[in-house]
Amino acid sequence: MIYGWTNTILHIDLTSGKISKTSSKPYIREFLGGRGVNVKLLYELTKPGQNPLDPQSPIILGWGPLVGSGIIGGNQTEITFRTYPNGLYGTANFGGQLGPEMKFAGYDHVIITGRASKPTYIYIENDNIELRDASGLWGKDTFETPDLIKEEIGDPDIKVLCIGPAGEKLVAFASIEHNYRAAAGHGAGAIMGSKNLKAIAVRGTKGIKVYDAEKILQINEELVNRGKEVGEKKLKEVEEEIERRREGKETNWIVKRKLGASIGNLNGFSEAGLSWDDIEKTNPIVFKEEQKGAQGFYPCYACPSIWRWLDCPWMVKVPGDGVMVLGCMSWYVYRMYTSDMKTLLEADMLMSRYGLDHQSIMGTISWLMQIYDKGIISAKDTDGIPMEKGSREAILTTIHKIANREGFGNILADGALAFAQKLGKEAEYYLIHKKGLLQSVSYDYRVHVNRALSTAVDTRGDTIRSSSGLFTPTVMYFKGTHYNNPELVREALRLAKEAYGTEKAATPWEYEGVENLVRMYQDFCLAGDITGECIFVFRGIYEFKADSFQPEVRELFANMVSAATGVNITADELWRICNKVITLERAWNIREGHKGREDDTIPRRLLEERLPDGPFKGYTLNKEKLEELKSRYYALRGWDIETGIPTRETLEKYNLKDVADDLEKLGKLPKTKEA
Ligand code: SF4
Repeated sequence: MIYGWTNTILHIDLTSGKISKTSSKPYIREFLGGRGVNVKLLYELTKPGQNPLDPQSPIILGWGPLVGSGIIGGNQTEITFRTYPNGLYGTANFGGQLGPEMKFAGYDHVIITGRASKPTYIYIENDNIELRDASGLWGKDTFETPDLIKEEIGDPDIKVLCIGPAGEKLVAFASIEHNYRAAAGHGAGAIMGSKNLKAIAVRGTKGIKVYDAEKILQINEELVNRGKEVGEKKLKEVEEEIERRREGKETNWIVKRKLGASIGNLNGFSEAGLSWDDIEKTNPIVFKEEQKGAQGFYPCYACPSIWRWLDCPWMVKVPGDGVMVLGCMSWYVYRMYTSDMKTLLEADMLMSRYGLDHQSIMGTISWLMQIYDKGIISAKDTDGIPMEKGSREAILTTIHKIANREGFGNILADGALAFAQKLGKEAEYYLIHKKGLLQSVSYDYRVHVNRALSTAVDTRGDTIRSSSGLFTPTVMYFKGTHYNNPELVREALRLAKEAYGTEKAATPWEYEGVENLVRMYQDFCLAGDITGECIFVFRGIYEFKADSFQPEVRELFANMVSAATGVNITADELWRICNKVITLERAWNIREGHKGREDDTIPRRLLEERLPDGPFKGYTLNKEKLEELKSRYYALRGWDIETGIPTRETLEKYNLKDVADDLEKLGKLPKTKEA
């Protein structure tokens, strides 16, 4: 008897229409599920150097053993593929309701290959799989598409993921959307579009057998109780924040943004032309006051979301265009150089409807505004539209043009790097990207060494989830020094020492202990991604203990998996799987042409330019220290210190001898014996 998993991988070839099923059993003990099994399947199913848009290049969906188990937060869908356009490793996820439904229909993973001869959507109703004509859906946006599918099938409870017009047109920033959530980065939507696949709709009624329902209820009760405690603490913080505003004092929202040091996307606060009052408009308290109506929480499956009521998915009304689910709006203000909320909400809505990754698009527009401001481009380069900072016309028109591949948007749609290369070296210098990917520019991390390291070494190239940037001790330390509160500073230092072995890890500009910090946060995220658990549930409840993946949190993850599956997994075993998965991801990238240490870079500007103003004026990153830090990180992972490539010893330790052999045949395996 198998519990927690469904023991089924569904294979769909869109070229031939062939549908088959295999067992997931050979994979789950070693890789658990979600991102873990996905990367193993990707390794097996892809050939080195394959084009991401090659019909045989797969898109793999996976749901870990906690998805649909009833455990709070067990709802994540992981989508793994070859990134477009750079061809390296891509994986992205979302919560919502689709994952549990897919498990209830009977599937741990779905592998899609081939290219349909006409627009198609896949309809899965338990064992019944249909490839349906999506010609009438082609061109529809990501809000219309699910409604039309539900109407066609006559079942409002169907769960749908889909692409918008941007994915259909193979835009490099295209996302896959589900119920206001997105698997956004790395061109996932373009891969679906290249397969003529508009959507996947699912209805599952079989349920899922769990091993120990009592234990699951008990775990949930503990989570809720802890969540309530944290919720009360947060409510108190909100009351204090309201009070601070009433008294005209600086709010905590602003203090945290000052620590973020991210004003103006590398151009500094003053050059951005913004004031702290502009940033304060994105304070959830202010924002919610102003965006009256249609507000509320919009939690995912099996999530009371009580611990994150301030900043988890919540709904607002977009003027004239319905309802939208939002996260943090301060990023928009920094990057678009405006606090005109009407424009920013419209932009947000447009990107979601078209199926575009918000982070990448904002990074692109922000860059265009900077190089326009510096006189590197003129309106002639952008179809007569002046890319003035904060311009409503520039923001909205660029989004339309990218999504529809019109004019200059057609080149941008192949990636901002393609456009930068056309414009020349100076324009390219100002583009903040990692191998053409623009996701992680939310923080200016010249004072956040952990963010620099995690961006450099992340197996996904660049992602908003590489690192939080603002960890609890860091925020406490900054607040403690800002408000002259020695007790808070002491507590920050104590936490940093306890979790990362050095007090210096509390100060974001220090390099000591950062390898531990990055490794623990990556492994915590991986634990979520391979089990199917939402990391925000844990971050909400366990805060710092989750970020630093402390024994208590590892133990809880392991207990949850054991309760759902009946497989007695220890905390150490779970942690070992995390390390194994990231090592296989790294090896896959190396096989595909990633050069290890040489490619573990961050954008030049972050190393060469100093912060022009703000509380951290004059700071920048140190290249030599960053290289030393990379060595320490590689050593922790068991990768070769010189090249940053997994060693044979490490690969064999994880039963990945075949992978070591492959790398050796390609002449890519490091010669050293010891990591
Ligand atoms: S914490 Fe937020 S993102 Fe996570 S499952 Fe709950 S509602 Fe969804």
